[in-house]
Amino acid sequence: MIISNRQVTLENDLATISFNIESESLPNKLWFNVPAEYMDLVADSYDAALLAVLLPAMKRGEDIHIEGAISGKLWHNLMLSYQLIVYQMLPALKKVNITASTLSDKNYGGSGVLAGFSGGIDSYSVLHDYHFEDIPSHLKLTHLTFNNVGSHGKTKEAEKLFHIRYERVNAIAKQLDLPIIKVNSNFFEFYGSGLRFNSTDTIRNAAVALLLQNGIGSFMCASSYPYDTLFVGKSKFMACCDAISLPLLSTESLEAFAVGNEYTRVEKTLQLPSLPITHSTLDVCTEIKHLGPPINCGACRKCNITLITLEIAGKLDDYSSCFDLKAYKKVRKKYIRQFLFERRTTSIELVNFGIQEKFNFPPISFALSRVKHFIMDLFKDRRLIPRRGDEGLHIRPQRDGQKESSSDTEKEPVMA
Ligand SMILES: [Zn+2]
Repeated sequence: MIISNRQVTLENDLATISFNIESESLPNKLWFNVPAEYMDLVADSYDAALLAVLLPAMKRGEDIHIEGAISGKLWHNLMLSYQLIVYQMLPALKKVNITASTLSDKNYGGSGVLAGFSGGIDSYSVLHDYHFEDIPSHLKLTHLTFNNVGSHGKTKEAEKLFHIRYERVNAIAKQLDLPIIKVNSNFFEFYGSGLRFNSTDTIRNAAVALLLQNGIGSFMCASSYPYDTLFVGKSKFMACCDAISLPLLSTESLEAFAVGNEYTRVEKTLQLPSLPITHSTLDVCTEIKHLGPPINCGACRKCNITLITLEIAGKLDDYSSCFDLKAYKKVRKKYIRQFLFERRTTSIELVNFGIQEKFNFPPISFALSRVKHFIMDLFKDRRLIPRRGDEGLHIRPQRDGQKESSSDTEKEPVMA
C-alpha cells in the first residue's frame, strides 16, 4: 500500500484533508472533514492517514509506504510494540512493514488538551476529572471532538445519525463552554468484516487526534476498563488494553493516553449526579432506532445498567427527563435477574454495589445466582494469557496459516 498526495480543499466552511491510497483492495481515497475554523489545529503530516489504514493493511498483510513525513516516534512504536499488541488481540491480523520518505522529529508545539465526547458516562467522567475538578490549568480540557469514524454505522443512514447526534452534543458543549470539533471521515469504507468498531475504536479516534496535532498536545481517551481488568490478549474490545497501547500512538508533538481506568462503571455513574448538566443530557442509550425524546429509551441493556445503578444510589428521579422511566419500569425486573446471573464485569460490579447498599434483589434469583457464581469461581481459568514472540523492528512474526493455540480463548474481563 502507498499513501501519498495529501491535499487540503476548502468548500464553504468545511476543509477536506485527503490522501491517495494505492492498495490491492482498499478504496483509493481517504478523507477527513474538519470545520474550516479549526484548520489551524490540522497538522501537515501523514500520521493520521497511517493510523487510519494500519489495521485494514494488517488485515490484508499489505506493507505500507508513505510518500511524505510521519513521526519517527510513531513509526518506531508501531513497528516495535503496537502491532504486537494488536495482533495478540486480533490474531487474524499480520504484522506489516512501514516505510516513509521522512521519519520526522518535528514538534508542532500545540498545547491543546483534547478528548472525544459523546454525552455518555465515560465522557462525563472525563469532564468530571479534567474540566470541573480543580486541577492545574494546563491539564484541563481545551477541546472536545465528535467523530464519525464508524461508531454510527457504515451506511449513508449512519452519516445522518452522526449529524443528528452532533447537534445534541454540540448543545451540551455550548453549555460547557468548550469547543467541540465535528470530524467526518470515510473510515467505514476501509473497515470491513473482522475489523468491527469495538475491536478498532481507539486507533480510529487516535487518528483524528493526530490529524489535529498542530494545535493539540494531549489526547485523552475515556477508557471503560478498570486497571485490574486490563489485559493484552485476544478480545473483541480494543479498550481492554487502552492504558497500555494508547501511549504507543503518541508522537513528538502529541501525548496520547487513557483516562478513567481508576474507576468501575458504578463509580463513574455515581460521579454524575453531582454534575447538574448530566440530569438532562446524559446519553447512554444503544438502541439505534430510538431517536427520542427523551434521549434514552429506558429499555436497552445500557440504559438499564445505568438506571439500576442510579436507583440503588437513590438518584433515579434526577434523571426522569432524559430517560423513558415508564419503559424502564416495565423491563427493570427482567434486567435485574439477568445482571444477577451474568459474569460480565459491569453486571458483577452493579450487583456488588446493590449488595453493599442492601438493595432489595428478588430473593430466589439472588440465591440461585450466588450458587452459580460460587461454583463457576471454583473453576475459573487463572492461567496467564499466552504470548507470542516478535521480531522487533524487523518484521513479521505471524505468518500466513499460523494456527492459534487452542488455549488462546477469547477473554472478556471477569472480576476476581
Ligand atoms: Zn436505551
